[in-house]
Amino acid sequence: MSSMRHLPLAAGTITIAAALVLAARPIAQQPPPATAGASQAGRAGGGRQGGRGGVQIQAGEECPPGTTETRPRNCQAPSFAPPTIVDYRPKSTLVTPEHLVPKAKFPAIDYHGHPRGLLDSAEGVASLIASLDSLNVRTIVVAENLSGERLQRAVELMQRTPHKDRVQMLAGIDLRGVGPGWADKAVRQLEADLKAGAVGVGEISKSFGMSVTKADGTRLKIDDPDLDPVWEACARLNAPVFMHTGDPQALFEPIDFKNERWLELALFDDRRYRDRVPPFEELMAERDRLFKKHPKTRFVAAHMGWHANDLGRLSRMLDAMPNLSIEVAAVLYDIGRQPRAAREFFIKYQDRVLFGKDSFQPEEYPYYWRVFETADEYFDYYRGYHAFWKLYGINLPDEVLKKLYYRNALKLAPRMPQAGWP
Ligand SMILES: [Zn+2]
Repeated sequence: MSSMRHLPLAAGTITIAAALVLAARPIAQQPPPATAGASQAGRAGGGRQGGRGGVQIQAGEECPPGTTETRPRNCQAPSFAPPTIVDYRPKSTLVTPEHLVPKAKFPAIDYHGHPRGLLDSAEGVASLIASLDSLNVRTIVVAENLSGERLQRAVELMQRTPHKDRVQMLAGIDLRGVGPGWADKAVRQLEADLKAGAVGVGEISKSFGMSVTKADGTRLKIDDPDLDPVWEACARLNAPVFMHTGDPQALFEPIDFKNERWLELALFDDRRYRDRVPPFEELMAERDRLFKKHPKTRFVAAHMGWHANDLGRLSRMLDAMPNLSIEVAAVLYDIGRQPRAAREFFIKYQDRVLFGKDSFQPEEYPYYWRVFETADEYFDYYRGYHAFWKLYGINLPDEVLKKLYYRNALKLAPRMPQAGWP
C-alpha cells in the first residue's frame, strides 16, 4: 500500500475498489503525485480489468487515480511513470500566425502600478521611465496606498525629474483602528493628500474585508457604516476609489485536485484562505452593498472584481452599478481563454474598463497587448501556475483600445494631465 499513498487523489465518487480509496489524510496534506506508483493503479485496483489491462467504470463515474479514460468507461494507467504537473510541459505542434506586440498600439495608462523600489531615487525613476517607454505606457498610476509624508516625498521626487507627468499617485486610506473619531481624521488626511497631488484613492488592498480590524477588535466589514463619511468625501472631492476585494474564488475553495489553482495554492501558503478569512461570496456581497450604497462615489474594482471567469455576473454588476468601473490586471488568463465572449464584453462595456497591470514586470505587459490587439490563437500566458491553458487574442477595435488604454482613466481621474493624448 505504500505506493498508493502517492497517487493523485481525484475528488468525486470512485467505486472501483477499496484498495484505491486513499487514506483519510486531508487532501491538502497529500504529497504531490509522485512519478512512481501511479502506473500501479490499473493493476492494483480490484475492479474488472478492461481489454488493455484497464479498469472498467460505470457511466458517470470517474477513472481511479493514476488512470485515464482511454475508451468509454475503460480507464488505463500509463506504462511510463507520469510526470508531475510541474514537469509536464508539452510543446504545441500547432502552427499559426504569430503577432508579438512589444509596445501598446496607443499610449497606455497603467492604473494599477506597483513600481515599488523604483520611486526611491532619480536613477530608479529613470529606469522606470525607460521601461515604460519600451512598452508605450505613458503614465503609471502608483497604487501603493501612499499618504502623508510618503506621498509628499514621492510627488516631490517626481517633480524634480523631467518626467513628472509620467507617474501619478493615488492616495491611501489608513483603514486600521476604525472607531469613534476615525472618519474625521481620515477625511482631513484625504483632503491633504489630494491637495498634495494625488489623483484618486487607492489601492484599497485585499486586507480590507479579509483581515483589517476595527478599534474594538472586530473585523472591519467592507460596508461598515463607520466608513461612510470617507466614501462620501471621495464623491464630493471627485476622487475615484480603486479597490481590490478578495482574491480569485478558487483560492477560497478546498485544496483538492479539482481546484483550478491547486499549484498556486501549493506554492503560496498565504493564499490558502479557506477557514481563515470570510468566504468569497460574503466578501463580494459586502463589496456590492458598498458600491450600491454610495452611488455618487466612483469605484474601480481591481482585477475585474475577480469575476472575469463569469462575465455574465460582471455584466449584471456593471448594469446595476453605474458608478462602477473595472480594471484588468492579473486576470488576463480568464480574458484570453474565452476570446469571443470577452471581445463582446469589452465592446459592450467599452466605457467602463481600465487597463492596469499590478506587479511591475516589464516583460509581462506585451502579453496584454497581444491579447487585446491581435487575433492570435493558442499562445502562452506568462505564469504557468495561474493558467494551465493557452490564450487567444480578442482583437479589439481601435476605438475600444483607446478607451481601455487611456481614455477611461483620464475621464475617471480628471486630476491627471489631460493634454497630448491621441
Ligand atoms: Zn495592487
